[in-house]
Amino acid sequence: MYDLIVIGAGPAGSSAAYTAASAGMNVLMLDSRSFPRSKLCGGALTPKAVKVLRNVFGDIDYPCVISNRFVMAGKGQTRQDLAVEIESRKEILRLIDRRSFDHILWKRAVESGALFFRDKVRRIEPTDEGFVVHALENDYESRFVIVGAGVFGSRLLETDTRNSYSLVYAANVKSEQEIPRMILFEKGYAWIFPGPESVSFGAGQHPDYGKIPYDTARNLIVQIGAKEVELRAAPLPIFDPEISIDLNRAVGGCLFVGDSGGFVDPWTGEGICFALDTGSQAVRSIARRFDDREGVNECFLENTHHIARHLSLGNAIRKAFFKNVKRSLEMSRDPRFSRMAIAFMERYTPRIGRLMVRSFFKRSVSVRVANVT
Ligand SMILES: Cc1cc2nc3c(=O)[nH]c(=O)nc-3n(C[C@H](O)[C@H](O)[C@H](O)COP(=O)(O)OP(=O)(O)OC[C@H]3O[C@@H](n4cnc5c(N)ncnc54)[C@H](O)[C@@H]3O)c2cc1C
Repeated sequence: MYDLIVIGAGPAGSSAAYTAASAGMNVLMLDSRSFPRSKLCGGALTPKAVKVLRNVFGDIDYPCVISNRFVMAGKGQTRQDLAVEIESRKEILRLIDRRSFDHILWKRAVESGALFFRDKVRRIEPTDEGFVVHALENDYESRFVIVGAGVFGSRLLETDTRNSYSLVYAANVKSEQEIPRMILFEKGYAWIFPGPESVSFGAGQHPDYGKIPYDTARNLIVQIGAKEVELRAAPLPIFDPEISIDLNRAVGGCLFVGDSGGFVDPWTGEGICFALDTGSQAVRSIARRFDDREGVNECFLENTHHIARHLSLGNAIRKAFFKNVKRSLEMSRDPRFSRMAIAFMERYTPRIGRLMVRSFFKRSVSVRVANVT
């Protein structure tokens, strides 16, 4: 019997497996795919994510493009020119390629002693001693389970807990674009993130407007400069504290991290930071309460409280933004709005008041009006 089975070897799973193996736990990591594998993503790491990555894995090398410039634009039906270019003395975004980035994290977990099998998990069965993880090739037993298997990992326990997600479209293409851009539309957003190997173009829609149709996403992406694109769709969780808490209280000793736990910022779509953080916090909670399986779940909820507060603030900002889109698009040209967005990306922030005060003092950031395209 393993101490711990980690399902999924993305950033959340690798972070959990690495932390557990480094602490001397007997850990098995399962993924339905072998590594390296591709993952549809914009590949943007915020300064906050870079800090969490270093806290979990120490200093590691990975291919990336570092940018201290960022364009934020609002593109309305009548106004086409609402854009600001933000420049900072500090790094604003780090763009990575998910195939190589995830592979490097996976390798670190395996080198630190985590065992890896390629197997697709179908179901998690709680038992008196722990869990039986039923997969296509085999069944595996463990005392604890961490689920980091993406959005649909939340279904593996077969409880009646809900999950909530929207669809996002993206493509990686060759392009001359150099500055990362975020463009806000009437119902959603689009991005251009120039990474180390290609440029990620993508678009999504505010969940209140339902799932974005393929043609709408494609039109948005063509409008912002991509030429021939074949888009792929992927689900993106929408953070809902009730869903995350219900999932992480469903069965003692079973924790849901990263996308499986819904830990994605509803405003920016950022998820890598929270996947890394929740993965390692889950293991810390297990190590602290190894003899008390129920206590592990409560300990995890306490350890991730700072994340939940930050994501709830992201949700509040998103709702305020889409309440009056026209006014919000105008506001996005105000330098104070851009500084607030930068402050939000830099670190965990619990309250809007604190975020505004912090952005007020952002002297290292300069903002000027720019063109959308
Ligand atoms: C289009 C798009 C763009 C995004 N852009 C950004 C961005 O720029 N910056 C950012 O921070 N976040 C971004 N995100 C969010 C980010 O990609 C996710 O939050 C992050 O990948 C979550 O990591 P994870 O480890 O939880 O899940 P994943 O990275 O999805 O990893 C899950 C792993 O579990 C495996 N798995 C799934 N089911 C099973 C099973 N049944 N059995 C075994 N293994 C299984 C999968 O093969 C996969 O390897 C984006 C998301 C999308 C969809």
